[in-house]
Amino acid sequence: MRIGVPKESYPGEHRVALVPLAIPALSKAGFEVLLEQGAGAEAGYPDALYAEKGTKILPDRAAVFAEADLIVQVLCYGSNDLTGKADLPLMRRGQGLIGFLRPLGSLEVIEEIAQTGVSSFSVELMPRTTRAQSMDALSSMGTLCGYKAVLLAAVTLPKIFPMLTTAAGTITPAKVLVIGAGVAGLQAIATARRLGAVVSAYDMRPAAKEQVKSLGGRFVELPITAQNAEDARGYGTAQDEGFYARQRELLGRAVAENDIVITTAVVPGKKAPVLITSEMIANMAPGSVIVDLAAERGGNCEATRPGEIVVEHDVKIIGHINLASEVPYHASQMYARNLTAFVLHLVKDGRLRTNDDEIIRETLLTDQGEIVNRRVREFFGLPELVAARETR
Ligand code: NAD
Repeated sequence: MRIGVPKESYPGEHRVALVPLAIPALSKAGFEVLLEQGAGAEAGYPDALYAEKGTKILPDRAAVFAEADLIVQVLCYGSNDLTGKADLPLMRRGQGLIGFLRPLGSLEVIEEIAQTGVSSFSVELMPRTTRAQSMDALSSMGTLCGYKAVLLAAVTLPKIFPMLTTAAGTITPAKVLVIGAGVAGLQAIATARRLGAVVSAYDMRPAAKEQVKSLGGRFVELPITAQNAEDARGYGTAQDEGFYARQRELLGRAVAENDIVITTAVVPGKKAPVLITSEMIANMAPGSVIVDLAAERGGNCEATRPGEIVVEHDVKIIGHINLASEVPYHASQMYARNLTAFVLHLVKDGRLRTNDDEIIRETLLTDQGEIVNRRVREFFGLPELVAARETR
């Protein structure tokens, strides 16, 4: 079976789906890897390193799609809403496709992908089980986003992070508040602590408290309780507007007391809740920084503009999207590891499996011209597939 790696086409995307380090494990399992010329260059992996591992370098994207049985990408059409559509005519029935597909994004786009006939697998739908942990790309990328968010904040803040006692006096440490202590939030806590900041964090899931504390952060307790804060997969759940209003009221003081606020609060398939209003920003000290990791999903901060830096009341609000792409070398390495584990699981005896296993069932998005994923069909209010087929 041949695995094709096209160059990422989303503007500013520097990652690549497979790195040279991942090739030997795939070759050993009988795969041949085809790479679009220059696909790894921006991540720090020149063609020569792939060629050394036996990768065939192809001159253009169309050749990779034409020759490969399985295409692996970082941002496929779906998550790449700017240039991804150009890949549709290159896909064919029976071909495999793996990558970020934003399965709870646009139904129209997923239908377009389905119509090509590809068997597409969405890495966002990976179950959160021990078995699937090595394939969990959302966690890998979340970790890097949390790290990078702190570095961005550190270079933007007109203060340093650590406490210093010098002949020129004592400098007090910077204060960092992290809202949303999932994978990205926890890495942000750890990174800010390493740089010497005093860190506190809040999450509506009670389970987060111990994790925050184990990283040396102080947990911010709010006198409100979320209803069923966590779903069966461990994700935070959507709450009503009354709950969010109360959160904003209670978070005001903690936000005002900190130099940096990093927000990561998201709910799968929903717009991110607004937890920081402009009024709250006005109470922060001038020069403070907010990094809104939920920017792509609408933002946790009222002032956030996705992809931009906004200044309001002398506070900088950073709404960068796609932060993992800013550390492309390691982001690609981690993603390639996740993909390799996934591909080795998916393919048996040279054939792509599309059934009989939890990981496959949950990640398979489209197959043979249809959206086949039960969770996605439910989300968009489509009839169950069996029922839909019977009525035709
Ligand atoms: P996420 O990216 O979906 O969300 C980030 C955080 O925001 C979550 O912790 C969520 O509870 C929080 N949040 C949402 N709405 C909020 C609100 N209104 N107020 C405050 N906080 C809010 O989360 P994630 O990074 O996917 O992590 C969720 C959990 O799943 C974590 O405990 C993580 O350790 C766990 N996890 C488990 C596995 C596994 O078992 N294989 C893999 C990955 C993550």
